[in-house]
Parts: sequence; structure tokens; C-alpha cells
Amino acid sequence: MGYLYSMELSQYLERAGYGDLAKELRVLASTSRDQAFRMFKEAARKVWRNSDFVEQAVTLSHEEPKGDVLASLAYAGNVRAIGDSLIVRSKHYTLRIADALLAKDETTIMKIMIHEAVHLGYPRHDADFRRLVREHGGAVSESATGDDSIKVQMKKGSRFETIKTFDDEHEAMKWAKEQMKINPGKYRMIQ
Ligand SMILES: [Zn+2]
Repeated sequence: MGYLYSMELSQYLERAGYGDLAKELRVLASTSRDQAFRMFKEAARKVWRNSDFVEQAVTLSHEEPKGDVLASLAYAGNVRAIGDSLIVRSKHYTLRIADALLAKDETTIMKIMIHEAVHLGYPRHDADFRRLVREHGGAVSESATGDDSIKVQMKKGSRFETIKTFDDEHEAMKWAKEQMKINPGKYRMIQ
């Protein structure tokens, strides 16, 4: 059903000569995108103590995000936060929402919007990011595959290889520390 709202299908119908139907679908697609954007703003208000800037600073793009993700938040410069206080923010953010996300239920959309709202102040999926996302019931990963697992990687030659996968970051950290003692090297945790 959600796929019917997609811009992609609308373009296809346009090319196939169904102009009126294409136009109708475009309206539906942008309506559900706007609804998701309202959920993003609501999430931002809940996540951040100082969220008045969101209305001015965040623009909704009507393009799909790049890569295999359900949504993305792009911006120039650095952002930094401590806990739920946004210390350094960008002047301008662009939120992109995938058609695939609009096809999902409201709870899933909200979980991803919470994830993106936390990115306003945290660029990476680090421990502080994950803590705030979990506190607000968001999804830790915005990947379309829904893979929330934490991977412990070790540097082998010029690149990192995943050596073990965990569901819990504390378990992953504990294991990585043990591993470092037994087998010294460069480790990192990614999601
Ligand atoms: Zn993310």
C-alpha cells in the first residue's frame, strides 16, 4: 500500500501516460512525507531541551536518501551535544525520508524520526547517541535492513574486519576489552 504513495511510481505513471493518476499519487506521497516531518519536529522537541531552532533550521527534501537507509539528516559543519543539550548546531539541516519508510506503520516512522532528531546533535552512532535514542524509544539504526547489531572489528592490514557481533553495546565493550588483552591490536565498535 505504501508503495502506491511513492514518487518513483508517480514518475513511472507519468511516463506511461497516466498523468492524472500520477499527479494524485504525488500529492499523497508529499502528504505522507509532510506527516513524517511533523513527527520529526515532535521528536526533536522531546529529545532536545533547546529545540526552538528546528522550525527554521531543518528543511524537508522531497528526494530519497542515498544508500540503503530509511532516512538521513545532512548538514554542513560540526554538531556537538552533551546529554540532551545541543551545544553546537548546524545553521541548516536537510532531512530526507525514503518511500520505503513511508510504507511502514506510524510507530516505525516515529522510531526513525527520533533517530534522525538525535542526529541534530550527534553525528555518529556512538554510545551517547544510542543512549539518547533508547531513552526516547527510537531505533538505534536507520538502515533499511533493520540491523541494530553492534560489530566489534579489528584492524587487519589496511582495513577493519568484523570479528564478533553483539546485540548489546556493554557486552560488546566487555568482550572487546578482554580480546585486547589476549590479542593486542586496533579495535573498534561499529553499528
Ligand atoms: Zn543514523
